[in-house]
Amino acid sequence: MYDQELLQKIISETVAPDAGRVDHEGAFPRAGIDALAAAGVLALTVPTEFGGGGFGMAAAADVVRQVSAACGSTAMVVAMHFSATAVLAATGRNDVLREIGRGQHLTSLAFSETGSRSHFWAPVSTARVDGEDVVLDARKSWVTAAHEADSYVWSSRPLQADEQMTLWLVRTGSEGLGYPGQFDGLGLRGNDSCPVTADGVRVTPADMLGADGAGMDIALAAVLPSFLVLNASASVGLMQSVTRQTVAHLVGTRLEHLDQTLAQQLPARVTLATMQIQTDRTRTLVEDALVALESGREDAPLLVLEVKAAADDSAALVADLAMAACGGAAFRKELGIERRFRDSRAARVMAPTTDALLDFVGRALTGLPLMDA
Ligand SMILES: Cc1cc2nc3c(=O)[nH]c(=O)nc-3n(C[C@H](O)[C@H](O)[C@H](O)COP(=O)(O)OP(=O)(O)OC[C@H]3O[C@@H](n4cnc5c(N)ncnc54)[C@H](O)[C@@H]3O)c2cc1C
Repeated sequence: MYDQELLQKIISETVAPDAGRVDHEGAFPRAGIDALAAAGVLALTVPTEFGGGGFGMAAAADVVRQVSAACGSTAMVVAMHFSATAVLAATGRNDVLREIGRGQHLTSLAFSETGSRSHFWAPVSTARVDGEDVVLDARKSWVTAAHEADSYVWSSRPLQADEQMTLWLVRTGSEGLGYPGQFDGLGLRGNDSCPVTADGVRVTPADMLGADGAGMDIALAAVLPSFLVLNASASVGLMQSVTRQTVAHLVGTRLEHLDQTLAQQLPARVTLATMQIQTDRTRTLVEDALVALESGREDAPLLVLEVKAAADDSAALVADLAMAACGGAAFRKELGIERRFRDSRAARVMAPTTDALLDFVGRALTGLPLMDA
């Protein structure tokens, strides 16, 4: 296994203490990301020949879960990085894998667009050949770590292929990239999930990830399983931590006139039990999906579609119940529960959104194509 002790040390000494400030200021969690990079955690899924850990998705999911228990923003930056890294590995972008292996490269996904919004499978942004170069024009609506990443895995319409999508590696700092605005979100406030525009950004044909028009197949094979499982793992981490916090509050808070704790009140225990059951249910589903994926089980594709939809709603419910169980104390910032409540809302609107996933699951069950063109 990877160095669990080192990961826990980074989480407890850097990520957790900074989580409140990251949320309050909407600041990128730079110290935590740098510490994770220096410890080789961001290179966990990079093949060993390129200096990485050579671990699979289960290890990545475990890291995201543990980081998320301390800071949702840091966890989501890491989840995006692992998902984009999966594309780089699948398409043999070894130079960037080596940079990640050295702990010197953070990457992210630039899929969602102003034009096609949450329908990530239908980019409207363009790529065209101009001499030796390829020119990209786009209005990306959300890119996590937009100002802070070293590269984006970027979707566009194909150059020529009669398909929906081609993928590119776009290095940040490329001329023509624009950042029209800062991220001031309800939750995951340290994510730096900003719009990014491309006005005549020049890349080379070698920056194409996979073949022209193969973007959707790569997204389905590499991005989708990774992003769905990691996003669900982030939700599990959030649920585990908010449930632990609720236990601590209920056990440690007294009604002096009754000489009892809040935990001695039946409604509080019922709420807490519901939180624990939802958390364990979701954790079990995610773990089963990982086993199914790694063993190539027949139901793996369906479970992968299910996990994020299940986790999105469970996280929102569990965080909501934590707010109820801890009452006015949770409404204030000092417990940190209202931060988790706000963070929990993000998963449902991150594409594939819960709505889209429920549709995908229904389509998969009834033999329809996953998405319409
Ligand atoms: C914190 C955060 C970080 C993000 N980071 C990234 C990132 O790094 N990279 C990236 O590419 N994107 C990122 N996104 C964007 C995300 O993936 C979605 O694209 C975006 O949140 C969708 O919002 P929208 O308003 O454009 O949705 P819209 O498409 O306008 O949808 C609005 C609502 O309608 C529903 N809806 C839309 N169409 C249908 C339909 N056909 N059937 C049923 N329901 C439908 C949706 O589910 C949604 O609830 C991020 C989003 C968040 C919140």
